[in-house]
Amino acid sequence: MKHRQNLHTHTTFDDGRASPMDMARAAVDVGLESLGFSAHSPMPYENDWAITEDRLPAYRQEIARVREEFQGRLTVYEGLEWDACSSIEPTGFDYVIGSLHLIAPGQEESSIDYTPNITRHLLYSRFGGDERAMIQAYFGQYAALAANHHVDVVGHFDLLTKFSEHHNLFPAHDPYLLQYASEAMEPLIRAEKIFEVNTGAMSRGLRSEPYPSVPLLHRLYELRGRVTLSSDAHGPELITHSFDAMEELLRTIGFRETWVFDGSAFVPSPL
Ligand SMILES: [Zn+2]
Ligand SMILES: [Zn+2]
Repeated sequence: MKHRQNLHTHTTFDDGRASPMDMARAAVDVGLESLGFSAHSPMPYENDWAITEDRLPAYRQEIARVREEFQGRLTVYEGLEWDACSSIEPTGFDYVIGSLHLIAPGQEESSIDYTPNITRHLLYSRFGGDERAMIQAYFGQYAALAANHHVDVVGHFDLLTKFSEHHNLFPAHDPYLLQYASEAMEPLIRAEKIFEVNTGAMSRGLRSEPYPSVPLLHRLYELRGRVTLSSDAHGPELITHSFDAMEELLRTIGFRETWVFDGSAFVPSPL
């Protein structure tokens, strides 16, 4: 039976706009069967988007409360969107999304998720303007997540192309980028990581396609990769943003199922 789920959501514990309770309410309203919270993991420097280590116990407590409140109506999971530069190891969560928001080392000037100017500045200051070197550094970090047994889901795999459409930075369909990204996919697939099809940048008007881009989704299908659907929602109205269109896209590519977390493992849900 088809099971609709979103494991990638943010709340006021990090940079989301709504409480976990409000997000759960919205999930029920749009007909989700289960919902996972995935706070940005604590970072080793001051920032305005990740949860701090001292807030983690309150995060866990609140999600336990939401789980209780919605019992029988919505299954609630406590996840984490873990950045590889995080100050903690991602242990003790129901599931972990492994994401990269910056190119190591962990500092805000290394962010590729913030503004086009910061990304451009990083390209020139650290990589001397060599786009290929930056592509390699970025996807190399993703490939390394294959060795991390805590990571279940690969988050927004080609986030580096966030400013592709409106700022012409790292064009998402650039042949070199696609080739390098495809190579980085292989170890992750071998390590049985699941790729999220993330509509977050679509909901913010930054992109007309999800992460990973359509050509990368084709490649993922050829390599027999597995996908899960998420919206990286930072507000209740975005919980299932473009889900219908993504299901259609995935069917067109050839996928026959998405993978959903059932509390202990990822299981197929027919498309
Ligand atoms: Zn993220
Ligand atoms: Zn996120």
